[in-house]
Amino acid sequence: MDIPHARPDITPREIKAVTAVLKTPFLARGPKLEEFENAIARYAGARYAISVNSGTSALHLIVRALDVGPGDMVITTPFSFIASSNCILFEGAIPVFVDIDPKTAMIDLALVEKKIEELQKAKKPLKAILAVDIFGNLAAWGELQRIARRYHLFLIEDSAQALGTFTQFHGKKHMAGTFGDAGIFAFFPNKQITTGEGGMVVTNNARIAKTVRMLRNYGREKGGYSHQFLGYNFHLSDINCALGIAQLSRIETLIAKRAKIIAFYRRALKGHDGISFYEAPPSARVSWFSAIALLADRYTEKQRDALLRMLAKKGIDCRNYYPPIHLQPFYQKQFRYKKGDFPCAESYASRTIGLPLYPLLSVRQLSYVTKTLLDLVKRYE
Ligand SMILES: *Cc1c(COP(=O)(O)O)cnc(C)c1O
Repeated sequence: MDIPHARPDITPREIKAVTAVLKTPFLARGPKLEEFENAIARYAGARYAISVNSGTSALHLIVRALDVGPGDMVITTPFSFIASSNCILFEGAIPVFVDIDPKTAMIDLALVEKKIEELQKAKKPLKAILAVDIFGNLAAWGELQRIARRYHLFLIEDSAQALGTFTQFHGKKHMAGTFGDAGIFAFFPNKQITTGEGGMVVTNNARIAKTVRMLRNYGREKGGYSHQFLGYNFHLSDINCALGIAQLSRIETLIAKRAKIIAFYRRALKGHDGISFYEAPPSARVSWFSAIALLADRYTEKQRDALLRMLAKKGIDCRNYYPPIHLQPFYQKQFRYKKGDFPCAESYASRTIGLPLYPLLSVRQLSYVTKTLLDLVKRYE
């Protein structure tokens, strides 16, 4: 059996939507762009949505719009996809890592506050906190908002993995992406919905929205050749937007299918020695990006990597989500990070097995994945 790690769920509806755009003169910057932005804004409950050509670009433009620049510091997590930290480096700012909570793999709030105190005491130019909704789960946004307000910091939400996740209080839904000054979504084909490549900035702040829109558009407001500042061309084409609109119209089905698969994995991994399923923080509804099996802490990274190779040999494509960012070669070189700097992130990252997760997985495939995984883990006992 050959089971890829991820694959998009594309139906005739998406194919029709894309080919329809190809028959119009508006392949780019046409009506589908605004339609997609409006649809995401409505879905995520944000006042403004600005589409861009990737999730990485979305993060970058938020950093620029908040005027985080050379030497400024941003507190963030070392346990994430590298884009959440690179966006800080793009502008010459400095990512200041804080270790994770060893249970949920989210940034550790006590350590965040400790680090802020330390940096503010030393009069360092600390500007923002950038937290990540890892695997589709919410970081502790209520607490992060309190901390950001208390210390006068911007709050950036990397919700690339969490479109559709929400929490609820006082009977009101609060969607992922809307907890900080600005948030992002990403639409690579492994995410919950795809546009091929693509991303979106969401915010309730009119000034941020306007600046991001101009940064995306060569630093100008609309058309014409008057450019207010150094801008990029980060537009998402109407072909991509049409695909996104069709995908978004099916998102509840896609999220429900992913949730069913998560429930299957959770059940199958329950009560086993040596392996467990990711311990999610509480929230009203999770839109799952990844399915994470976690080896017990007696296992070494070498053993995990060997397991991944054996799974690959059996046709199951699993992933080592995510080697910590501070140990990436260029981060080590630039900031002299070394093994042991963020022990919880390192330990966690050395024991994850990202299982296949996409709506089209069948029960037969899922059974094969869990049976193969549990058999292989048993060999280590
Ligand atoms: C996917 C992802 C991104 C970036 O998205 P791209 O569209 O690939 O640039 C950023 N942060 C996280 C946490 C992601 O998972």
